[in-house]
This record gives sequence, C-alpha cells and structure tokens, in this order.
Amino acid sequence: MKRTLILLTVAVFSISAFSQRGNRKELAKWKDYNVGKIEFKDKSPDTKGAKIYHAIIPDPDAYITEQARRVLNTLYFSTEDSIPGVKQLNYTIRDYDGVSAKGGQPPVVGIEYSTRWIERSFANGDTAKLHFETKGVLFHELTHAYQLEPQGIGSYGTNKTFWAFIEGMADAVRYLNGGFTINDRPKGGFYTDGYRTTGFFFAWLAQTKDPDFIRKINRSTLEVIPWSFEGAIKHIFGESYDIVDLWNEYQVAMGDRPRVVK
Ligand SMILES: [Zn+2]
Repeated sequence: MKRTLILLTVAVFSISAFSQRGNRKELAKWKDYNVGKIEFKDKSPDTKGAKIYHAIIPDPDAYITEQARRVLNTLYFSTEDSIPGVKQLNYTIRDYDGVSAKGGQPPVVGIEYSTRWIERSFANGDTAKLHFETKGVLFHELTHAYQLEPQGIGSYGTNKTFWAFIEGMADAVRYLNGGFTINDRPKGGFYTDGYRTTGFFFAWLAQTKDPDFIRKINRSTLEVIPWSFEGAIKHIFGESYDIVDLWNEYQVAMGDRPRVVK
C-alpha cells in the first residue's frame, strides 16, 4: 500500500527581487537611455478620474519615463542589448469601461488608461492605493512596449504560447517592481495560463534559480526559434531541466500542492 505523507510547505516568497531590480546603481545605467518621446493626452479632462490623475501625478512625462527605465532594467542587461526602439509613446487617459491597454508596435506605441478605473481605484480616497494601481498597470503596459516577442510560432492572436509569454512577462515585471503583492498571486493553474499565473512563476524562477531569469527568458526569443517555454528553459538552465518539473517544484514550494513522498 502506498502511503502518502503530506507536507505543507510554508513558502517564503518575498519581493526581494524588487530591491535587486530597482536598485539605484542598476537604474543609473538607464538614465540617458531614450525611452521615446512621451506624448501625454487627457481626452476626458472633465471627468473625476482625470482630475484625480492630475492631482496625484503632476508630471506624467517624468513619471512614465521613470517607470519605463525600471521596466527596461528588468527586461535587459544593458542599453547595448537588442531592444525594440520606441521612438514615441502616446499615453492617453480617457473615459471608457476598462482598465488599460497597449496598442501599436515600436517605433510608435500607445497606452490608454481609463479614468473610470482611476476613479474606482480611488474610491476610498486612498492615495497610496491609487499610486500602487497606476504604477502596476503602467509596468504591465510598458513591458508590452519594450519586451521581445517569440518568433516562429505565429502571433499574439493566433498562438496561446505567444500570448501566455507576452502577458506572463508583463505581470512578472509588474510584480518584481512592486506593482503586485504576494497576495495577488493566483493559486494553482498551469504555466501556460498567462498573466499572473505565468508571471508569478517567472518571478519565482528569478528569485530562487537565477536573478537574471527575466532578462534571459526575454532574450531567449532571439535565440530559441521556434520559441517554446520548454526550449527557453533548457536554453537558460541546461538540457536536464524540465519546465513541468520546475512548475511542480514551484507549486509545492508555494504550498499550492502538497509534497508527495512515496
Ligand atoms: Zn497585457
């Protein structure tokens, strides 16, 4: 008879990589990097959300530039890397039912942010909460502006692996820069689920296996063609590594799944 011993693992999964990624010395490398010309537009100046935005962020240009440098530092080793050249970044706040979205491709990228969402995030007059949300959403969308994309497997709209990688990276960068807390981590799922499920897994790999993991998996899109999660993991860690094994290790480490000892 097989006996199973269930051990619940209390995981210590802090935002320590945040300090690694965001440290001043590393960010200094990006201070002269041209993140693109930022064109800020307020299309709904009469809304409550727009008024709140202006009160909280008096200089959107400087604010967006600073977050862009954090995103670039998370995605790349240095300014000499192969980075999509964003020449212009159109950032618009507008009254619509949604949160935020990115459109276009470098050299001209657009990001929209909903004034209704701003209003909702500020429902209790909590300035810190609105800053946290605004910065978090910005990290996610800016990642889409600067990240590299898988090659040889179709596109965002036609291939689930492509989509999961793109959205997972954006949420990994958001978390590693303090735009999510550990309480935002979804339990279970699978590494191909995209968004936070993939993102927190990537962050765990960065925090427990290799501090440059995010930079390496971003760069793997140039080196692993056709791209796959499995191929990228083997490219980064070596042939003996397996993505499903790592996913299982992550699930056990986080306490999402009990460790089974035969
Ligand atoms: Zn996205």
